[in-house]
Formats: sequence, structure tokens, C-alpha cells
Amino acid sequence: MIRTRIAYIRLTSCSGCQLTLLNCEEELARVGELFEPVRFEMLSSAADDGGPLAAVLVEGSAARPEEVQRLLDLRRRSRWLVAIGACALSGGVNRLVDDRQGEHCAAVYAGVCTGRNMFPPQSIDHFVAVDLCIPGCPPEPQEILGALLALQRGTLPGFLREHAVCMECRQRENLCLLLERKLPCLGPVTRGGCNARCPSIGIVCEGCRGYADQPAREEQAHLLRDLGLSERQVRERMGRFTGGNHETP
Ligand code: SF4
Ligand code: SF4
Repeated sequence: MIRTRIAYIRLTSCSGCQLTLLNCEEELARVGELFEPVRFEMLSSAADDGGPLAAVLVEGSAARPEEVQRLLDLRRRSRWLVAIGACALSGGVNRLVDDRQGEHCAAVYAGVCTGRNMFPPQSIDHFVAVDLCIPGCPPEPQEILGALLALQRGTLPGFLREHAVCMECRQRENLCLLLERKLPCLGPVTRGGCNARCPSIGIVCEGCRGYADQPAREEQAHLLRDLGLSERQVRERMGRFTGGNHETP
């Protein structure tokens, strides 16, 4: 069988997204049968041959010129480009860095990274066309596997949920952290598909899957203000995983 040529690259990220895929131990053998990882640092030491690709999967946000260059090179070589995880989609937690990032970076990674060549982390769609987004921090393993199978068949998957996390949370009959415990849960405006993973163990939804379809953002902002969050806190909380690409109330 001719295997589908793919690359997986990591920009500024924690590697959590690719670990999610590599942790799918039962499915990995099948993935290996179907795909040739031309470039996938945590999976294969094979050198990239520079040839055409069916798909490149990108984890992380772009924060350095050489990362942008890598993105552009792989975009030119690949039929599909898939953004995996919140960092790639919105900048993710990397966007929490402040204006002194270069200073912090130089202090922590002296001699390795001076920070001089870094810019504020950006979602990858600022630089290249993205064919498919797989949300989450990290994404759900089944969504990554489902996307791979679709790409192998030459199509794009249509699995993304449009409803909010609250729907899945209520189906699981969880206590509502927002209404009953007065905690700043973002489930009402966040895209479902995670089966309310965090609220089900008593942790508020941080919104890592981005906005659901037609999110009631004003109403969510009012609820957060009612809990005592300042305007700035509301803006930061609701903008953390929306990358500034979406206006926040
Ligand atoms: S999206 Fe989350 S898990 Fe994936 S690289 Fe970014 S911080 Fe890590
Ligand atoms: S805990 Fe959060 S996700 Fe669950 S129903 Fe309440 S607001 Fe929605």
C-alpha cells in the first residue's frame, strides 16, 4: 500500500498536541500503516526529503521569523494544512506573554534564546491559508484521528460540533459551576466536543475549544461581571483562546 505522506511540525508550543496523538497507542500501528511521516520529530528521526506532501499538521503559534519561514515552505509543498490545537488556532496560552517576554526568555534560557528575534505569538492563519482547524488544548484524540483518516481518503472531516460545552455538561447531569457555585465557567460560549471534560471534574471551562456557533458573548460577559470580574478580567478571560481574531465584549 502506498502510504500518505504527511509532516507534523511544532512551532512555539508545549508538544501537548502531538503527545495526545502519540498516546493513542491502540491506533498508532494503523496510523503507521496508512501514513508516511516525512517529518515528525517525536515519532521519526528520518530526514525530510523535501518532496510534496498530502498534509502538514501544525502545532503551536508562530513567534519567530524562522517559524514563519518553515510554515511558508511546508504550505507550498502540501495539499492540506491542518492547524492543531489552540496555540495554532488562536495563539493559545502563548499569548499570555507580556511585553517583557524577551527579557524573561533571556533570563530563563540564557545562551539558548535571547528573545531578540521573537514577536508576540500569533495564530498561524496570520501567515498561511489553513484548510482545517482542530480545536482544544490539547484537542480530543478522536478528532485528530478522525481528521487523519479523512485526509488519507483525500477529504476534509466535518466533525466539529457547533453546540456549546454546556449542552454536554447538562447531559452528564453535572452541577453547574457557573450558576450554582458562582465560578467563571466559559461553557455557555465554548464549542463542545470535549464531553464537558473539565466541568465534569469540577474545573471551570477555560474556553480552549474557541467559540461555539453564535455564542452569547454579551450575556456571558454580564455573568462574569456579576461574579465580580473587572472589565479587563472579562476581556482577558474571554479572549484567551479566541486569539484576538474575534471581538470580545
Ligand atoms: S494547544 Fe495546548 S496542548 Fe497544544 S501545544 Fe498549545 S498549550 Fe500545548
Ligand atoms: S458548569 Fe460550565 S459548562 Fe457546565 S453547565 Fe455550568 S456553565 Fe455550562
